[in-house]
Amino acid sequence: MRPLRQVGSSSLCVVAILVERQHACPFENVREAALATIWYESDAFNAYRGEDWMPDLCRSCERKKVDFGGCRCQAMALAGDASATDPVCIRSPLRDRLTRDADKLSTTPAATLTYRGR
Ligand code: SF4
Repeated sequence: MRPLRQVGSSSLCVVAILVERQHACPFENVREAALATIWYESDAFNAYRGEDWMPDLCRSCERKKVDFGGCRCQAMALAGDASATDPVCIRSPLRDRLTRDADKLSTTPAATLTYRGR
């Protein structure tokens, strides 16, 4: 269930709320503006259009028109900066750390789940 604040929000995913906080440009609510207006005119959606926002690594990359610099929410969640190169990109300076962390987690025994009512 989405938090009440999220009802009608044009935010694309849960992590996008972090991006919203970094830039202090809220995702408008479709109850208050037309979706087309939000899509084309809002600061939140325009912040990462084009290439001007991209870090040099992405701006000089031949894949920038394929993946548009990767996921901004992932960059915010894992790098703490929505304008960073997507940390899951193999060219990202954070990629090695991410791979090490994932390897460590994959070898850690999973916690035993206890289901209610069983
Ligand atoms: S995220 Fe990686 S592949 Fe995509 S444009 Fe940036 S550097 Fe290139």
